Amino acid sequence: MSLAQGDDFADMWTSLEPVGRAPDGSYHRLAWSEADLACRDWFRSQARQRNMALDEDRNGNLWAWWGEPGPGAVVTGSHLDSVPGGGAFDGPLGVVSGFAAVDRLCRRWTVPPKPLAVVDFADEEGGRFGVACAGSRLMTGQVDPDTLLARTDRSGVTLAEAMRAAGFDPTGCGEDPERISKISAFVELHIEQGRALEGLGAPVGVAAAVWPHGRWRFDFAGQGDHAGTTRLADRRDPLIPVAHLILDARAQAGAAEALATVGRVEVNPGATNAVASRASAWLDARAPSRDAVRNLVESIRAASLEHCSHHDVALATKEESWSDGADFPGALQEHLIASVAAALGAIPKLATGAGHDAAILAARVPAAMLFVRNPTGISHDPAEAASTQDCLSGVDALTAALAALLDDPRRPSEAPSGPQADQSRSMTKVTPR
Ligand SMILES: [Zn+2]
Repeated sequence: MSLAQGDDFADMWTSLEPVGRAPDGSYHRLAWSEADLACRDWFRSQARQRNMALDEDRNGNLWAWWGEPGPGAVVTGSHLDSVPGGGAFDGPLGVVSGFAAVDRLCRRWTVPPKPLAVVDFADEEGGRFGVACAGSRLMTGQVDPDTLLARTDRSGVTLAEAMRAAGFDPTGCGEDPERISKISAFVELHIEQGRALEGLGAPVGVAAAVWPHGRWRFDFAGQGDHAGTTRLADRRDPLIPVAHLILDARAQAGAAEALATVGRVEVNPGATNAVASRASAWLDARAPSRDAVRNLVESIRAASLEHCSHHDVALATKEESWSDGADFPGALQEHLIASVAAALGAIPKLATGAGHDAAILAARVPAAMLFVRNPTGISHDPAEAASTQDCLSGVDALTAALAALLDDPRRPSEAPSGPQADQSRSMTKVTPR
């Protein structure tokens, strides 16, 4: 199959940029929303322009194939959905760079030595149904499809209903061993969600590890009451333990050299002149090891229970999602570092607290990640940024990494592993946002 000349990076970026962008520059590409469907159409049109075979898997992930889909496939890509109010780069940079890399590689090969796919993983952010990396988790069997499909968004729409409304039949959702068995390596390029590369003066880095992380829901039930007539001593105000939870999470994460965030609170009824009756808060926690995350969350929960008993408030907690994190295989990492270094010079290794589809896939296939410098360090916000020059360095790095994988007759797990420098999961150099 010969490829038609595709758009270059800038043209692709320009065509995708307005989709789901609000007047203030923030992005709203929630999974299976109209904006997300427009992004998916954009993906299909990019595949068509390159004569790449398009295929939508059982879990709603989109694949564009160069070469006959089959065993030994080298896969790259990321996601096109966003958190509510997100930035332009988180996700799309990896997909656009994937297509741009294909354009460069097809100058070298008419037919690639192994099949190469660019993928758009569905619902990576979990911004609508609360479970991050839904598409890759479903594919790799790391989530129960029935439970996930029954989850609702804030309007009460289930994931299954949202998929159907988008014209996708969710009945086949679930583990896809046949597809997984075809993948010899997955390389995801992503905007860095911190300022490590800025500090190191490097445009591109390689991921060393992704920290384990999870999300917990805390439901507080007190007694709604009048703000003007209820004595302070008589109140059962659920927002007081919520306030403590926010501060405890911060203090305990600081002491544990971990990360904990309460980024969402819902208050009922939410009236200025009323003591609230109920409140819910969502805790996101991340640390270098599973035990560290579990211990941190348990300790925050124990402190919260104490505050609740002080204020006669009932507390129910629920784990909403969990990611084991990933130690990306050293052999593939070294393979990547060597191939990218030949094209760009030495590139640093970074640990990250952010979850990614590559970390989900790493449980089943050799996976690796490249990060592109983000001078603001900000992510999940319109201030997320990357210069065009750095984006193009990212494309060069990805192209070199994919070329080396396509050219290497061995499986990535068999590639020789070099010195394992800087394998620490420490994030002293990294400040994820
Ligand atoms: Zn992302």
